[in-house]
Parts: sequence; structure tokens; C-alpha cells
Amino acid sequence: MDFNYSPADEAFRKEFRSWLDKNIKHAPPARDVLSEEGAGAWEGSVAWHKKLNEGKWIGISWPKEYGGRGASLLQNIIYHEEMQRAGTGVPFTGMGISLLGPTLIHWGTEEQKKKHLPRILGCDEVWCQGYSEPNSGSDLASLQTRAVEEGDDFIVNGQKVWTSIAQHADWIFLLVRTDPDAPKHKGISYLLVDMRSPGITVRPLVQMTGASGFNEVFFEDVRVPKKNIVGEKNQGWSVAMTTLMFERSGTSDTGMGEVRELADLARRVPRNGGTAWEDASVRQKIIEFASDAEALKYTGYRQLTRQLKGMPPGPEGSMMKLCGTELKLRMAMFAMELLGPYSQMEHNAPFAMDQGKWSFRMLAARGPTIYAGTNQIQHNIIGERVLGLPKG
Ligand SMILES: Cc1cc2nc3c(=O)[nH]c(=O)nc-3n(C[C@H](O)[C@H](O)[C@H](O)COP(=O)(O)OP(=O)(O)OC[C@H]3O[C@@H](n4cnc5c(N)ncnc54)[C@H](O)[C@@H]3O)c2cc1C
Repeated sequence: MDFNYSPADEAFRKEFRSWLDKNIKHAPPARDVLSEEGAGAWEGSVAWHKKLNEGKWIGISWPKEYGGRGASLLQNIIYHEEMQRAGTGVPFTGMGISLLGPTLIHWGTEEQKKKHLPRILGCDEVWCQGYSEPNSGSDLASLQTRAVEEGDDFIVNGQKVWTSIAQHADWIFLLVRTDPDAPKHKGISYLLVDMRSPGITVRPLVQMTGASGFNEVFFEDVRVPKKNIVGEKNQGWSVAMTTLMFERSGTSDTGMGEVRELADLARRVPRNGGTAWEDASVRQKIIEFASDAEALKYTGYRQLTRQLKGMPPGPEGSMMKLCGTELKLRMAMFAMELLGPYSQMEHNAPFAMDQGKWSFRMLAARGPTIYAGTNQIQHNIIGERVLGLPKG
């Protein structure tokens, strides 16, 4: 493992840092993914996306011919480090940049790429992901939404659920069953569907945070042109797995930012005539979180080293997903203990410390333990593929 960046990478850092210094005034505060935090939050993210696109600082790992910078793995890390340093992040404007774009670059027809990629970069098209159904989550291949051929179209009927950002989306990438008689992984196709097509109904779901980041989406005789299929008919599972690969490689945040925020909170929470920070057991707990976050950072470096050496993915992805999301959940729960009675105050309630963001986070932190492969599934993967335990 080489911890030094090359001169070219350092030049890349300098270029992005100086762009950020000039443009950071346009950035909304970094926010927890998938949480609608009040009026204007979505518009703020879209505006930041568009500003980044003006400087060609969005979708940087996409190949140059498709409007990206062809950034290397290390440059991607630098990009995120610099965003964090500036107190912002990549805006969450749906699944276009992170998931659909890279999938189309790999699988799409030239026509699909030309039509959608520039509009995704410009945030002129917002995309949502139509995978999960009421009875198909972890066992995704059991999905039942049906598409039947009729002339030049597919006719889609069925229901998706937990569809993040569908309330803002212009398009959805959708998994449908096109051959009900084939083995379950072999009868699925991957369609690009205009959310304004007649027959689509979006119904928001309110989460326990009070926010409504995701939705149920119903399809009733929705016509989708056949040219909107990605890959071959009945081979959508392979395309879907490509998308999931991008989803799972996107979780690189180790939680050190939250550790710092927690230490700052402890220094302000009154306790026994002083502050909670003066309590050795509080400091011990926070340093324990810091050690976990640091360990995750080096696990991430191990993963990176494998990638740079062109080796197949190891267990690090599952470990990062499992330990990273659980660390954030534990930190949010600890913040509740620190805050004591203040923890009962809602997000944005008057007199709440830090605008009640900790109680919001505590409720929201369950989500990441569920999406992108639940943590129980990650336990299975680590148990079976890393530790060689028998299948349960
Ligand atoms: C915040 C959030 C955003 C989301 N956004 C989207 C989105 O935009 N688009 C989309 O398509 N989906 C989305 N999802 C859905 C997500 O992908 C599913 O929730 C996830 O795949 C789990 O499926 P499920 O909810 O049906 O639970 P199930 O699969 O029914 O699981 C229920 C419980 O059983 C456990 N379990 C299941 N199978 C096994 C097994 N084999 N071994 C051990 N334990 C098991 C699970 O870990 C879980 O605890 C989102 C979810 C969340 C929380």
C-alpha cells in the first residue's frame, strides 16, 4: 500500500480545491442521504449539481467521451476528500449519476447513451430505481411486475415500493418479468420508463423521521417502447447486477465526520456543573468510535489496493457496509444518551440542540442498514464467502 499521491493526482486536487474555494458559496450543507430536510432542500441539491456540472465536476469517473473526466479511483477519493474538507458533498439528485449512468455506459445502445447521459449530467433528468416490490427485497429475483409485448411496446403492470426520489423523478429504471415460465433469474428485463407515462401513480410513504423520501409506484397498463430495453430481453438480471455493483461500491464514508460532531456536542452538553466531555467514560466512548472509523478507513485502503492491483473484489465491501452503517447507528444512539431529555425534541423544534439533527439521524440511521443489501445479508456473505461457514 502506497500512501502517497502522484504529482498528477496532487495537481488534480489543487484544481478541484481552487474551484471549490470559488464556488462553495453555492453549496447547500451536506445532508443525510435520502432525507428531505424541509422546503428548498431538493432545489438546493439540484442547483449545486448544476453548478458542479458547469465546472465538469459531476460524474467525474464517467469516460471523457460521455462527458466525464475519466477520473481514476484515486482521483475519486481525492474528489470526496476535498468535498468533505469544504464541508459539502456530492448532491443527492437521484440515481442517475451514481447508478444508471455507469450502467448505460456499459450496457446501453448508442441511442440510449446519447439521449440520456448528457441530461443526467446536467440534472435535466432525475432517475429513480424500480427494483424492490412488496414481496421482493432481499430476494429480488422473485419480482412480479409483469411486462408483456404488444406491437412496438411492452405493457407494464405491477407495483414497486421504497422507490427513493420517485416524487421528483422524470424516469425510472425498472426490473420487470418478461418470461414468467423461465427460472426466476432468467425471465427478467431492464426497462427505461418515462415517469410521465399514462398509468403510473406515485404514492409517497412517510418514514418514521417524518420525511417522505420514498414512495410506492403503481403501473397500470403502462406502454414502454421496446427500444427502451437495456440489454437483451430476459437478460435484465445481468444488467441489474451491474447497477448493484455501482451501488455497493459507493459506500466509502467512514463516519469520522460524525465522530468529530459528537466530540463537539459532548463539549457543549451540560453535565454536573461542567460539560459531558469532562466525564472520562464519555471520552472513552467517543475514542472507541474514532478507532472504529479509523479501522474502516484502512479497510477501505485495503479494498482500494486490491482494485488498483486489478484483483477481484474481496470481503472489504461487505465489511465496510456492515461495520460503517452500524457504527453510524451506534453513534446516533449514543448522541441520544448524551443529550438526555433534549433527545426527545424533534428535528427543527425550538430549543433543540443542533436543531434536533441527532434525533433525526437516530431514526434515519436504520435505513442504510437495510438498503444496498441488508446487514443480515452482509453477515451471510462474510460468513459463507470469507469465513467458509456452511450455508444456513
Ligand atoms: C432508505 C431506503 C431507501 C431505499 N430505496 C430504494 C430504491 O430507491 N429503490 C428500490 O428498489 N429499493 C429501495 N429500497 C429497498 C431496499 O432495497 C429493500 O428494503 C431491501 O432490499 C430489503 O428488502 P425488504 O425491505 O423487502 O426486506 P426483506 O428482504 O423482506 O427482509 C426482511 C428481513 O429479513 C432479513 N433477511 C431476508 N433474507 C435473509 C436471508 N437470506 N438471510 C438472513 N436474513 C435475511 C433481512 O435482512 C431483513 O432483516 C430502499 C430501502 C431503504 C431502507
